[in-house]
Amino acid sequence: MDLLREKIKNAPDCPGVYLMKDRDDRVIYVGKAKNLRARARSYFGGTDSRKMIPFLVSRIKDVEFIITDTEKEALILENNLIKKHRPKYNINLRDDKNFYSIRIDTKEDFPRFQLVRRVKKDGAKYFGPYSSGASVKETFRYLHRIFPLRTCRDLEFKTRKRPCVEFQIKRCLAPCCGLVTDKEYRKIVAGAILFMEGRGGKLIRQLRSRMDKAAEALDFEEAARIRDKVGAIETTLEKQRIVSASFKDRDVFGLHREDDRIQVYAVHVRKGAIIGQRKFPLMKTRMESSEALSSLLKQYYNTGVTVPGEVILPEYMEDARVVEQWLTEKKEGKVLLIVPRRGDKKALLAMALSNAENAQRAEEKLEADNEEVLEGLAKCLLLKKMPRRIECFDISNISGKYAVGSLVFFNQGVPEKSCYRRFRIKTKEDADDYGMMREVLERRYGGKKDIPDLIVVDGGRGQLGVALSVLHGLGLEEVDAIGLAKESRARPAGGLSTIYRDRDRVYLPNRKNPLYLSKHPQALFLLQRVRDEAHRFAVTYHRKVKEKEDFRSLLDDIPGIGKARKRALLTHFLEMDKIASASREKLEEVPGIGKDAADRIFEYFHAQSKS
Ligand code: SF4
Repeated sequence: MDLLREKIKNAPDCPGVYLMKDRDDRVIYVGKAKNLRARARSYFGGTDSRKMIPFLVSRIKDVEFIITDTEKEALILENNLIKKHRPKYNINLRDDKNFYSIRIDTKEDFPRFQLVRRVKKDGAKYFGPYSSGASVKETFRYLHRIFPLRTCRDLEFKTRKRPCVEFQIKRCLAPCCGLVTDKEYRKIVAGAILFMEGRGGKLIRQLRSRMDKAAEALDFEEAARIRDKVGAIETTLEKQRIVSASFKDRDVFGLHREDDRIQVYAVHVRKGAIIGQRKFPLMKTRMESSEALSSLLKQYYNTGVTVPGEVILPEYMEDARVVEQWLTEKKEGKVLLIVPRRGDKKALLAMALSNAENAQRAEEKLEADNEEVLEGLAKCLLLKKMPRRIECFDISNISGKYAVGSLVFFNQGVPEKSCYRRFRIKTKEDADDYGMMREVLERRYGGKKDIPDLIVVDGGRGQLGVALSVLHGLGLEEVDAIGLAKESRARPAGGLSTIYRDRDRVYLPNRKNPLYLSKHPQALFLLQRVRDEAHRFAVTYHRKVKEKEDFRSLLDDIPGIGKARKRALLTHFLEMDKIASASREKLEEVPGIGKDAADRIFEYFHAQSKS
């Protein structure tokens, strides 16, 4: 403690970041300050009245300071260090896979809309963010119904010989086969961009004028087509709620707090219309609300989402000025943080606040329901602990080849994808499912870190036996483990009318016969969800590994075919079969594959087919 006091006393008198560590030298909190010395002294001198401070101070055994030139640099460094260390007492906004944007690169010859998770500085246009896959898909549907742009990927686009079904159902004008001119296609792109920018009014005016011209020229077919398009756009725009006459881009953050549970809810307004809403994960923290909000904002805007011109907040943040500067730099245009007092901004904030409150209520209800299911599961399986944290394992392989294992994690009955893990099996090459399960379990629990309450293995008595032996070997006997297996009963010959079912059996340690949880449907349903998710995750990885290995192993045998050439071949032909059956001339057409390499590839596959 003396050493710590000494460090606090001599803290640098300038801006920077501080890392607080516990007795195991783990970083438990990262913060930034305009003046590190003043901030450090306020922690330990009792002058900081924030509720979290006494709690935090009692856990700090060491502190590290990193000096920066400005407070803004400190903010960036703080963000990076939080991401790196994931400290226990900071707000950690996990990488949320639900952050979507829509991208279009107008520099391409025939641009298309794409759904992306990251906004890059690549000169393309991005729209969003969208709160969920559902709202993005809805927007995509509208877009493609109204604007017949291509949906295919670049590779398919370049290699198509005939238009696909999109052309037949009039959702694409088939630029792949030259059925639309560049100029005509660009006009559609421009209209789609106006629509996405929320400038539907301007777009409708342009279309009406084109419709009139078409009618004047007695092109009634074209006029009718444009009329239908105008109708579709008007219907879509009616669904977007116009909430402001100022047509500004705004993100509005509502916050609801009950004790140490904070729920933040964002409403995204673009050109005056609400285009999306987002519920952030419930935060459990002793931090002040404004501090938690500041932390969340910094991490959120660091994920690459679009920064709007105005960020509406429910309360002032201590570091609002520096956050404003940082956002302005990110956006390359002025950004204002505003705590509204009246008007449409205040009304939007009220909406975000009441949504935050509702979201918290819904979360609590879900937690209560899940708690009931977990209690039921603990009771019917006679578990030692409430299975709040469940981990489930599955193995996937084909006769021992491409063997992989998966681990999925459910917290309070809810999947937490950031904690999923996949394993490439290293020790087994034959179809030894038990041995593979052993390897995966030993790799996961060897470090004895973050041990769950319940381990589920996909399989019967054998797999459970492996799990129990691994846990015993590691001194983790107190952890509950079960096996979940499907019972496949043979269909009686000719028994078409017989009801055939797969019933799940639960294997427990020290119990000969399996349990059928038919009287506990909710508990069974949870276990099935967990098992099915592990299965899905394992199979997806298995496929990936197989594809990669198949490709690599074949081409690896051909001298002079390195990484770049492999990629070029696959990009050009798309499938292995096509490479294998290609003529020397076709192979030579691939960029980077000269005559010699083409000969070697040709000889290789044709020699194989002869042998
Ligand atoms: S018609 Fe051609 S350009 Fe349009 S989506 Fe199909 S393949 Fe792509």
